[in-house]
Amino acid sequence: MNEIILLKLGEVALKGLNRHTFEDRLASNIRRRLQRYGSFRVSSKQSAIYVEPQDPACDMDGAYAACKQVFGVVAVTRARPCPKDKDAVFHCAQNYLDQELRRAGTFKVETKRADKRFPMNSMEISQYVGGLLHDAYPHLKVDVHKPELCVHVEIREKAAYVHGPSQPGAGGLPIGMGGTAVSLLSGGIDSPVACYMIAKRGVQLELVHFFSPPYTSVQAKEKVIQLARELTPWCGRMKLHIVPFTEIQEEIRRACPEDHFTLIMRRFMMRLAEGVAKRVGARALVTGECLGQVASQTMDALAVSGEVCTLPVLRPVIGMDKEEIIRISRKIGTFDTSILPFEDCCTVFTPRHPKTHPHLDEVWEYEKALDVPALVEKALAGIERITITMEEPS
Ligand code: ATP
Ligand code: MG
Repeated sequence: MNEIILLKLGEVALKGLNRHTFEDRLASNIRRRLQRYGSFRVSSKQSAIYVEPQDPACDMDGAYAACKQVFGVVAVTRARPCPKDKDAVFHCAQNYLDQELRRAGTFKVETKRADKRFPMNSMEISQYVGGLLHDAYPHLKVDVHKPELCVHVEIREKAAYVHGPSQPGAGGLPIGMGGTAVSLLSGGIDSPVACYMIAKRGVQLELVHFFSPPYTSVQAKEKVIQLARELTPWCGRMKLHIVPFTEIQEEIRRACPEDHFTLIMRRFMMRLAEGVAKRVGARALVTGECLGQVASQTMDALAVSGEVCTLPVLRPVIGMDKEEIIRISRKIGTFDTSILPFEDCCTVFTPRHPKTHPHLDEVWEYEKALDVPALVEKALAGIERITITMEEPS
């Protein structure tokens, strides 16, 4: 029988009555994710998902790597199915894990018996298979506490499965289970990490980027598209809404005091993001804001910029140090793109002395010099929408 990929579900399994919806959603996310690696049968049973290649041309390495990026999965392993018979299990373990068994100094066999009709219990299967493996590899010692190799045997409904140690999955909840949110994606390090963290909780993202030509370059826009693409293995297919922001920034510069530029600009970003959210039916906004990181991210400044919207603003990196954010950014694969040196609209018209403790009534006063609804309307009307799908494998 052909090698398969076995996925263990995370919190999904705990969701009681919702469990089937979760499993179905996860299975369909996996199916979509694996399309490029060949034809696979994806099915779920007993808190596990089975990914079975349907022809020899399937790219198992690619599929295995992809499975590790699917939210909702806690552990991933490649496994070999065999008939549900104690000797077949032994032969399967010997063939499938021969190299590992030769290399290891200590081992144990651990059995899970999901099929309770199987005539031996877990302990008896482990002892039987372990005994035969011990005979076949006399150098091996049994260590039930810290073995170098754990041979896993699972007796399930259709077959028995043998595998070595599993690897961690992406964790979290399947994308789509947690509704939709609009995430503000700049070209920086923080906002892609924020996207990843919210997507991990099962949220489908719609991305919004503000760009200000000619102050920001085509490369800056390309960079954001690239970042969005790098997020797709985790976040799935997404829409990127590119919002023209030049006129708003020029108007702010013309009519408002310099120390309030950034703050008033951020209020426009929130209004526009909420405008997009209304259109797409999203229930929250997501930013990469981090307390105290820059002048516009003091508590007072966050209160003033958040005041313009009614949807909850999720700020998953709010309490993290830059080092922690960078670690995640490297792990998810966005760091190298994030540090490419292209201007973001935030760095256009940056005040020399930005206000760190703004007052709402002052801000309201300054905004009277602007036709806020018209500016918002016009920017929303000029949105360019791009569907971001995964990059072709190189
Ligand atoms: P990042 O590293 O994410 O770019 P930052 O440290 O540059 O963040 P700010 O420029 O103050 O911080 O931006 C704070 C947040 O506002 C960003 O994390 C992002 O969510 C949003 N944001 C900033 N600029 C843009 C932009 N041009 N388009 C969309 N969202 C933006
Ligand atoms: Mg930041």
